[in-house]
Amino acid sequence: MIKKYYLLSPGPTPVPEKVLSSAAEPIIHHRTPEFSKILMETTEGLKYVFGTKEDVYILASSGTGAMEAAVINTLSPGDKVLTINGGKFGERWGNICRAYGLDTKEIVLTWGDDYSPEQLAKEIKNNPGLKAVFTTLSETSTGAIFDIKGFGEVVAKTEAILVVDGISGIGATPCPMDEWKIDVLVSGSQKSFMIPPGLAYIALSPKAWKLVETSKLPKFYFDIKKYRKNLGKQTTPWTPGVSLIIQQNKALEIIKNMGLENFLNHHQILGEATRSAVKAIGLELLAKRPGNILTAVKTPAGVDGSKLVKTMQNKYMAYIANAQDPHKGEFFRIAHLGYMGGFDIITALSALEMTLMDLGYDKFQAGASVAAAQKILREAWQ
Ligand SMILES: *Cc1c(COP(=O)(O)O)cnc(C)c1O
Repeated sequence: MIKKYYLLSPGPTPVPEKVLSSAAEPIIHHRTPEFSKILMETTEGLKYVFGTKEDVYILASSGTGAMEAAVINTLSPGDKVLTINGGKFGERWGNICRAYGLDTKEIVLTWGDDYSPEQLAKEIKNNPGLKAVFTTLSETSTGAIFDIKGFGEVVAKTEAILVVDGISGIGATPCPMDEWKIDVLVSGSQKSFMIPPGLAYIALSPKAWKLVETSKLPKFYFDIKKYRKNLGKQTTPWTPGVSLIIQQNKALEIIKNMGLENFLNHHQILGEATRSAVKAIGLELLAKRPGNILTAVKTPAGVDGSKLVKTMQNKYMAYIANAQDPHKGEFFRIAHLGYMGGFDIITALSALEMTLMDLGYDKFQAGASVAAAQKILREAWQ
């Protein structure tokens, strides 16, 4: 058989062909009107997807760089912060905050569990003097999404800022920054933004900018004031990722032409189809509140989850993602974000069924997951 590569992971994600080919153009110089025009168009496009009238700054780093920038630009040594750890990425907020000497109170959830705005309100009441609350829109390690709108209402009534990791979620699930009262929103290029890894995005509300004025944590490369000053002159403080920004501009054009609402609806359909499909073969979801970005599926009893993922990758070249440590093998993750279509889901499901059969798991009728997904896709297809 020809070994064709199917990228079905929650980042990096597939890149549309015309976006890929735009990276093959000769490099232009970044201190030129030509590049400034592209930078400003890209910034406008990011503002549209973020749902904010604030500027969105483009950093040359992976998403974690924007998470670090969110911390070091708003806080000072010893500041009290609250982090919600619902998985690998929520945990990262705590790790960054502690690395910078912040007084970090961490709420640790069982992976896949939800956390309500009421619980958050209670926790904030029990921890007076908080400067910031850190949370995650889509916890990519578990497939769960959190009630960011509800968190926004709670945190807006306090002195604290709400900082949201939207790295996998923005573009795939609703999260209008201004409307939901988010103070710092970060994202990255290799998830729903449909370009290769290498760029990170960050926007700050007026409440967050006030903290920037008093922030004393050390900063240089990610000093957000330098980005603001330079964007005012339609440029960047350092050499920007020219090719990636050109690609992002192209990919944002696709989202704008389609309309953000339709882009979000597309994710909803793929999410519903995937959930319905895995349930049709008797498998269970990990997340109590599953998002439409990816679906984390519990490994059925008697099957080695890591072997399942390895077989899908090595034999069928279907690159779904294993669970991350310390839950490797306990579940696996099928992605449906960014430039993924209905038939990408079908591919993942078919490869999953074939792999389950290879591993001796036979408690389902062959094709049942594909049929369930087809039903939803056919009805929704326009
Ligand atoms: C991918 C991801 C990150 C990490 O981003 P990097 O680009 O690997 O630095 C952080 N948070 C979430 C929710 C993610 O999905």
